[in-house]
Amino acid sequence: MAITAGVVAVQGDVSEHAEAVIEAAASHGEAAEVIEIRESGLVGECDVLLMPGGESTTISRLIHREGIASEIREHVAAGKPVLATCAGLIVAANDAGDDRIETLDLLDIRVQRNAFGRQKDSFEAPLDVDGLDDPFHAVFIRAPVISEVGDAEILATWEDRPVAVRDGPVVGTSFHPELTGDHRIHDLAFFD
Ligand code: GLN
Repeated sequence: MAITAGVVAVQGDVSEHAEAVIEAAASHGEAAEVIEIRESGLVGECDVLLMPGGESTTISRLIHREGIASEIREHVAAGKPVLATCAGLIVAANDAGDDRIETLDLLDIRVQRNAFGRQKDSFEAPLDVDGLDDPFHAVFIRAPVISEVGDAEILATWEDRPVAVRDGPVVGTSFHPELTGDHRIHDLAFFD
């Protein structure tokens, strides 16, 4: 039996996440079927969900307009896993610090968009992540800073700032775990 993984595909990077979840499933001897979610009515078929990076204001607007936002909330209320990365993390947070973003309140965190500073628009860093034996090579692209953490577990920090968190079935990262061919974060989010 294959697991069904949904990638919220209204905007942003989709195909790399699809590959990463397929590889993570294969490392557990499972097959994954990936569906791209651009409309309502599909989330209910999914065992796991990915909320990719992109532009958080656009993603927020489109998932509410298409009726996908409430379905993602129902998925999490049923205890099913979500991996939310970069813009996905911003949309999944409790507070995005930006009125244009209607957050989903899935992660008990406050974020600040694009807050690592101009000189750090984009950077890479070896991260120690709770649950992984070796450092994870993390790629940050106009990444959000997690400025406050409420009732969520911090999985990794960079320069004393949380950059990966877990809140129940939801794992969120400031960075892009799908870009390096290392599927261990997908593994952690979905198969642990
Ligand atoms: N800066 C983007 C935003 O605020 C996120 C960047 C990304 O997803 N790589 O939406």
